[in-house]
Amino acid sequence: MGNIVAKFGGSSLSDAGQFRKVREILRMDARRVYVVPSAPGRRFDGDDKVTDLLYAVCRAKREGGDWQAVFLRVEDRYREIARELALKLDLDEPLREIRRNVENGAGEDYCASRGEYLNGLLLSDYLGYYFVDPKDYIFFASDGTFDSERTNTALSARLADLPNAIIPGFYGSLPDGAIHTFSRGGSDITGAIVARAACADLYENWTDVSGFLMADPRIVKNALPIRSITYRELRELSYMGATVLHEDSVFPVHRAGIPTNIRNTNHPEHDGTLITHQADETKNQFVISGIAGRIGFSIISIEKAMMNSERGFGRRVLQAIEEAGLSFEHLPTGIDTLCVVLETCQLEPVKEQVVSRIMELSSPDTLTIHDDLGIIATVGRGMVHSPGTAARLFSALSREKVNVRMIDQGSSELSILVGVDACDFEASIRAIYHEFVR
Ligand code: ASP
Repeated sequence: MGNIVAKFGGSSLSDAGQFRKVREILRMDARRVYVVPSAPGRRFDGDDKVTDLLYAVCRAKREGGDWQAVFLRVEDRYREIARELALKLDLDEPLREIRRNVENGAGEDYCASRGEYLNGLLLSDYLGYYFVDPKDYIFFASDGTFDSERTNTALSARLADLPNAIIPGFYGSLPDGAIHTFSRGGSDITGAIVARAACADLYENWTDVSGFLMADPRIVKNALPIRSITYRELRELSYMGATVLHEDSVFPVHRAGIPTNIRNTNHPEHDGTLITHQADETKNQFVISGIAGRIGFSIISIEKAMMNSERGFGRRVLQAIEEAGLSFEHLPTGIDTLCVVLETCQLEPVKEQVVSRIMELSSPDTLTIHDDLGIIATVGRGMVHSPGTAARLFSALSREKVNVRMIDQGSSELSILVGVDACDFEASIRAIYHEFVR
């Protein structure tokens, strides 16, 4: 029998009721033997996440504030869960130790990591699973970069000895033994690392939504869920703003060929979104898999007669961009035109420098900058086999009277990017959605 690594987010473990749901979910499939918990999240609108409280504890301590009062709120959250679940675990000792370390000036990462640590202790007691402290198995180099190979060797050896385990998310340790965390939302990364180390059949990421939606629900009401998607499509959608998973959590499982399934703890009857390696493993109902987009872009459009035969032209333009410390997003080109798409917030402070350097290095005939642009990515592996997809997309936009400022289709035929004025952004997404979905 293979195994499944199940990561539960903060909202899935925010109180005793949620812990019960988690236990039910684990009971439903005996392969769910390795569990990665986050710290308790919000229970209701306006509530605090435990991780935020822990950062506040550290801040209060540093600034001479009443950190004990904030810590008491953290303590109450765990004691309440332990009481309601009638756990035998003695929380006094770990809480005393954390207080002592905070008192002695423990760092921010240590404080923040205690949210996952304590939740892991509770969950291990509640489920009767072994507790594996990531400080001994998840390693960072001294500059804070994740040490994937050392981690994988140590963690796989440890898990091979255990029939089940709770491995708290979000943190590991530096070479000197100090606790270090991933960036916010990093329990997703721990889950992926554990899935790789356990050679899991599947990485389940349990959260409070039933997977990715085909479009942002704030823009398209009742957008349908994406049932299956490939890692490459996911990358395109996440890059353009669709977020459910931490971006860095994709790599370890993608590389190991392990599928990821986003599931909803409050609706385990939904299949969620299955993310797989190979396009042909999964079938989709629609030509497109999803639409995502962001506003806040600028286009620098450069024209020069006979540009296509001028060697090094593109390199010189990009040199000016690089010298200003900018990274560009897209680079659509025509025969005598080259456009560089950048984030406006990056470009704005160095705009004059960039313009004069491009003029100096490449002497274009004209250079214009167009701000207030939104970029929309229509993503779908099905587009490769469907002639006319671009025509449908542009017809939908033209019916909506949208002026398309930029078009970019990667050679992979996985996505079509269009740049539109920010004022047309939402209408464009709706038009594309209705054309391809319903
Ligand atoms: N608890 C951490 C955070 O709130 C990590 C996580 O939940 O993934 O960012």
